[in-house]
Amino acid sequence: DSSSGSSGFFSKRTFPGRVPAGIGRKSLRIVVTGGAGFVGSHLVDKLISRGDEVIVIDNFFTGRKENLVHLFRNPRFELIRHDVVEPILLEVDQIYHLACPASPVHYKYNPTNVMGTLNMLGLAKRVGARFLLTSTSEVYGDPLEHPQKETYWGNVNPIGERSCYDEGKRTAETLTMDYHRGADVEVRIARIFNTYGPRMCLDDGRVVSNFVAQVIRKQPMTVYGDGKQTRSFQYVSDLVDGLVALMEGEHVGPFNLGNPGEFTMLELAEVVKETIDSSATIEFKPNTADDPHKRKPDISKAKELLNWEPRISLREGLPLMVNDFRNRILNGDEGKGL
Ligand code: NAD
Ligand code: UDP
Ligand code: UDP
Repeated sequence: DSSSGSSGFFSKRTFPGRVPAGIGRKSLRIVVTGGAGFVGSHLVDKLISRGDEVIVIDNFFTGRKENLVHLFRNPRFELIRHDVVEPILLEVDQIYHLACPASPVHYKYNPTNVMGTLNMLGLAKRVGARFLLTSTSEVYGDPLEHPQKETYWGNVNPIGERSCYDEGKRTAETLTMDYHRGADVEVRIARIFNTYGPRMCLDDGRVVSNFVAQVIRKQPMTVYGDGKQTRSFQYVSDLVDGLVALMEGEHVGPFNLGNPGEFTMLELAEVVKETIDSSATIEFKPNTADDPHKRKPDISKAKELLNWEPRISLREGLPLMVNDFRNRILNGDEGKGL
């Protein structure tokens, strides 16, 4: 198997002690980087429940041990505190690469998207693992095409405040395709649109978590700008199903994974109000620089090639995160890492 660049002591690809995943399928050993985070921890739950072995690599930058604590006694689960910016040696079949400072408050000045992605691609190359990158709709920037198809190249400011994230993910996509073409690494690319659900960071400034937490705390919802900008919000279990379908499927992508239901921020505030507290109010605040005016995925490619589409609407999904938020706010857990 030297075709994928394996050599030397660490090139061994048989994993002693493997447990069966059930009738008809050998269990896989899967790395999830960023697995202590919001999306990652839900993905880990799904992989563990179907019988696979999961190794989470996380530096707890925004992730939390609480998101995984229910798995600590499971022999098929392992958690490594590690920064993916540094190399690591593991023997695995698949790599879901989610590690990333993923919100405006956290992502500035961090080289994770470039160095972390490079290391995980190097790992995939060495052991012949399949690698999935969680890219983002932000690669489309402030889009001049609406809704956005995967063929759109985007409208991104290379030197703006958001560039570290947008351009970091664009570079990550480039690296992923280079390893695919140049080193035969099996890769998959997902472009994820705004996603919400239980275990979201309480304090990372994203709009759904801000509105829900504000209403629970009896504070006004902070609408930035005129509130007429749009986003499309996907419930986390739909995303996790899409990521697994992509990893298991035959297509490299990129694939948009998002819910095409499009809402203005004012409409979102209205849904949060109806869901949690009819006496909730809003206040207007100045918007952030380079804020995209609208965003909505065209998901025809994922529907056709992955047989995937989201099932949970915003009105169905929002109530599913309220209890988790309420409990964490009541317990004074503001979502910081341990
Ligand atoms: P999150 O912040 O909850 O999770 C990211 C995880 O990565 C955290 O657990 C964090 O501690 C970890 N991490 C960050 N830097 C690291 C490093 N250098 N080494 C090891 N671990 C590191 O965010 P999320 O919403 O779960 O996002 C997961 C992935 O999905 C990210 O790649 C993000 O860019 C992508 N994505 C998410 C959304 C969304 O709406 N949630 C939208 C588009 C793309
Ligand atoms: N890498 C890693 N784990 C591995 C194999 C590689 O972390 O199992 C890192 C390696 O340290 C390097 C990066 O991945 O920084 C890219 O590796 P590759 O072999 O593609 O590049 P090279 O080391 O040849 O420059
Ligand atoms: N936003 C808002 N109030 C908030 C937080 C965000 O109105 O408290 C707006 C923000 O300006 C943007 C939209 O909500 O137009 C989505 O922001 P978020 O950071 O959640 O996601 P992204 O901009 O990355 O799509």
